[in-house]
Amino acid sequence: MKLNELTAHRLHEMLINREVSARDITEAVFNRIDEVEDELKAYVRTTKDLAYQQAEEVDQKIQRGENIPPLAGIPIALKDNICTKGVHTTCSSKMLENFIPPYDATVVEKIKENSAVIVGKTNMDEFAMGSSTETSAFYPTKNPWDITRVPGGSSGGSAAAVAADETIVALGSDTGGSIRQPAAFCGVVGLKPTYGVVSRYGVVAYASSFDQVGTITKDVTDCALLLNVIAGHDSNDTTSVKREKVDYTKALIDNVKGLKIGVPKEYFAEGLDPEVEKAVLESVEVLKSMGAQCEEVSLPHLKYALPTYCIIAMAEASANMARYDGIRYGYRTPEASDLIELYKKTRSEGFGNEVKRRIMLGTYALSTGHYDAYYLKAQKVRTLIKQDFEEIFKKVDVLLAPVTPDVAFRLGEKVDDPLTMYLTDSLTVPANIAGLPAISIPCGFKEGMPIGLQILAKHFAEATLLQVAYTFERNTDFHRRKPNYKGQEGGKN
Ligand code: GLN
Repeated sequence: MKLNELTAHRLHEMLINREVSARDITEAVFNRIDEVEDELKAYVRTTKDLAYQQAEEVDQKIQRGENIPPLAGIPIALKDNICTKGVHTTCSSKMLENFIPPYDATVVEKIKENSAVIVGKTNMDEFAMGSSTETSAFYPTKNPWDITRVPGGSSGGSAAAVAADETIVALGSDTGGSIRQPAAFCGVVGLKPTYGVVSRYGVVAYASSFDQVGTITKDVTDCALLLNVIAGHDSNDTTSVKREKVDYTKALIDNVKGLKIGVPKEYFAEGLDPEVEKAVLESVEVLKSMGAQCEEVSLPHLKYALPTYCIIAMAEASANMARYDGIRYGYRTPEASDLIELYKKTRSEGFGNEVKRRIMLGTYALSTGHYDAYYLKAQKVRTLIKQDFEEIFKKVDVLLAPVTPDVAFRLGEKVDDPLTMYLTDSLTVPANIAGLPAISIPCGFKEGMPIGLQILAKHFAEATLLQVAYTFERNTDFHRRKPNYKGQEGGKN
């Protein structure tokens, strides 16, 4: 297999055995980018010079006989809403097209401290608002499994880049499913950690009480390695949680004997594609045969999750978008006769339709006379949904569910129909509403397109979640299959 097709843990072994250099790996990734990027468009920008410089530093360390951390020399792609000092961070928006942050997000600092090699910034839905990467102000990204289909969103660029072997690992952000849904659509592993486990400092805010940075990788081991790097308390983020450092690789145990799995019936409601349902239920059987105990459970308020999410997320989005006024930073209209006109024209010209729609709906939900009926009500329902999960997790260790009602849809299919687009998030938003950790791993195929299995656990139980995911991966082959896109060799990682 080519170097860019391998996992981070395999490449780490090769690096410390001096079978390859960090430069070789970086080169393999950039060759692949040259080969496919014109068509796939997973990146907004690549950072070749920075990458080679970082790779060189790792090679020197190895030559000096120094120990290197697990992700040293490993190429990583960053979603373009994560601030990178001196490197454009656009959120795939015209508003930030020329924005160069003067500082690194905390997660980027951590990536650099661990000597990973930053390959570039990935395409996304504008300000992370969307489910297909089609609301990007620049261009849509394609799904390497079928280039007529979407890669999912909003972290579609990161997921497509990992699936097409244009990077080894990637970071995304997940407000309502934006890591898990594209991971499912692209047949890779995507983890949204518990709210507060990963710092949001330097990550451009969409809906602050949901946003969480997480990992997109080729397998569960790489997921644990990358989570080890990005997790941890940060005094720059008031919502970051102080907890003892966990080594998530300790959770990589191929055993689920005695673990209790809940299958929440509301996740299998109307609208779920029968083949997706079948794949997920077969996955439950796999874990059962490994000794897990399974039972059907119920989350009575789950049917309110999507409307609750939409109201709160849009309300928070409208507040977060207020800072783009043409004064402080970002796009400014070239012509305006007074201040109000400057605001209006800047925001009309700088934001795309989806962002504008959410600012309007969010402002409406927060306005006097509507606040109680919408925003306040949604907050109350949020509590009820949280309580449903708390009750369930007294009885079971994890929940198994589909990630999406169906596999990746076609480019253009839903982009003019926001309601149908929002419905694709119905199974991912509950974890964000309750702040729970959740992962998507490959569990089957429909018409050649990957299907994702979602595993949810209680707050801070990433280890349990990884253990179940790892056991499933060890005993199945879904993660080994590659899209077979433009010369991918596939096979064993
Ligand atoms: N698709 C969802 C939305 O548009 C989730 C987006 C996200 O997680 N960033 O709100």
